[in-house]
Amino acid sequence: MTVVDLGLPPEARNADGSWRLFVDGAWIDCADGSRFEVHDPADGSLVATVTSGGAADVDAAVTAAWQSFEAGRWRSKSPQSRASALLRLAQQIARRSDELAAIETRCNGMPLRDAKAMVKRCVSSLEYASGFAQRAYGQSVPVANRYLDVTLREPIGVCALIVPWNGPLLSALWKLGPAIVLGNSVVLKPSELTPLTALVLAECCQEAGIPPGVVNMIAGGPATGAELVAHPLVNKIAFTGSTATGKAIMKVASEHVKRVTLELGGKAPNIFFEDGDVSDAVLGALSGLMRNTGQTCIAGARMLVQASMYDEFVERLTAAVDQLRVGPPTAESSQLGPIVSAKQLARVQSYVELAREEGAEVHGGGLLDGDGLAGGYYMRPGLITGAGNDLRVNQEEIFGPVGAVLPFSDEEEAVAIANATPYGLAAGVWTRDVKRALRVTRAVRAGTVWVNTYGWNFVEAPMGGFKESGLGRENGSAVIDAYTETKNVVIELDEDDSLDIYRLRDVR
Ligand code: NAD
Repeated sequence: MTVVDLGLPPEARNADGSWRLFVDGAWIDCADGSRFEVHDPADGSLVATVTSGGAADVDAAVTAAWQSFEAGRWRSKSPQSRASALLRLAQQIARRSDELAAIETRCNGMPLRDAKAMVKRCVSSLEYASGFAQRAYGQSVPVANRYLDVTLREPIGVCALIVPWNGPLLSALWKLGPAIVLGNSVVLKPSELTPLTALVLAECCQEAGIPPGVVNMIAGGPATGAELVAHPLVNKIAFTGSTATGKAIMKVASEHVKRVTLELGGKAPNIFFEDGDVSDAVLGALSGLMRNTGQTCIAGARMLVQASMYDEFVERLTAAVDQLRVGPPTAESSQLGPIVSAKQLARVQSYVELAREEGAEVHGGGLLDGDGLAGGYYMRPGLITGAGNDLRVNQEEIFGPVGAVLPFSDEEEAVAIANATPYGLAAGVWTRDVKRALRVTRAVRAGTVWVNTYGWNFVEAPMGGFKESGLGRENGSAVIDAYTETKNVVIELDEDDSLDIYRLRDVR
């Protein structure tokens, strides 16, 4: 069944209308005929039926990737030619940007305006990554005079790219761009909730002239991902998703000492000091928490507010939250869309209930229906007050438009609360006192700290987590480390035998 037209050729579909997998430059059905459905969170309607990859299909995709790597079909091309291909891919994405944004919105409910901005970021991320091909420098290492020691950057091999549903295309391209431009071959597994932009991406790669086998796409759920992670020919796993899945992947990866980069969950503190402007603070808190309907790993879900401004902050934030416009993601006026799935909505709701059970107060946070919302997974955004930092609602990732406001007395306490979770992905600090801003920035254990702003992830800057929020970095030049091995090369320059300490030449 095909409800949404992806603009793909007829061979991208099975006879029953379901979308196929992309392996070795061809569209294929899976070995056992499995399918899964994709639904629109805005009204619950069926968007598409998609082929679900099983063990045999994962094996075919990984083998194709391995063969393309081994044959040097791609990695032995000049860096300039790989860079040019990535720029052509960026052009393909730009050309289809409206279509891609619309598909993303249909699958995950992201407001269309945000989806369009996200696709633009996809294009610039590929443009940026294209430069890595020609700038993956090695080093000349100062060693004893009779040797020349240099390092080479070499691709790792087959990279499994596993991504979630909340920013599907961007998450995929942050991995795929650097991975392939540095000469690796990849198998991409999108989330079972949002697989459709990955299908279009596969075709864009083909149109950009990237050779068969270099980019493969296998749709499916956790079982498909698990097959991919365990496949012995996979050399590296780049994963974005929950901390629980990241831990499971790390365990399996240890079997073959696979390289792993993990972008995992968060419970970011957004810290507001009393010297800041309350209006700015409220805006900073809202934009930190509510982007993508609260479904971002960097969401500022714990708003730490200095006690002297706490009451005013809560009052104004509550009023602002009440004014947020929740509605169909395609409507211009909607600031928040639906939650991605019925299951995720139930999960977020269970945390609203839990907050109450834990003795906290919850403002808003209820289910929402009404005109134009029928069948959709909508809820009012919610604010939790009166919950200590050690409660589950402040320790576990809710991943929805629900956050807690917590008071603190001084800088020391703010930092202590900020650091008291297993996560360490991101943090915000709002103050006019530059020394305090810098002290707190240093003291907070997080991969990104925003000062008097929140949420910007520049492709030029590294992104990743401390503690249980991840391992390794995406974006920035750090990403070169994530997709290359370093080879050290030692070259003898002298002709004499002075280092033949075992006199092997005499023996011979
Ligand atoms: P998830 O961990 O359930 O799934 C992520 C992906 O992994 C999906 O494609 C899924 O099919 C696959 N998967 C699930 N189990 C697997 C297994 N055992 N082996 C291999 N693959 C498996 O996460 P989700 O619900 O899709 O996404 C939300 C989570 O992602 C949140 O925790 C969020 O914080 C995190 N996230 C992190 C970042 C970041 O950059 N740190 C960015 C976006 C989302």
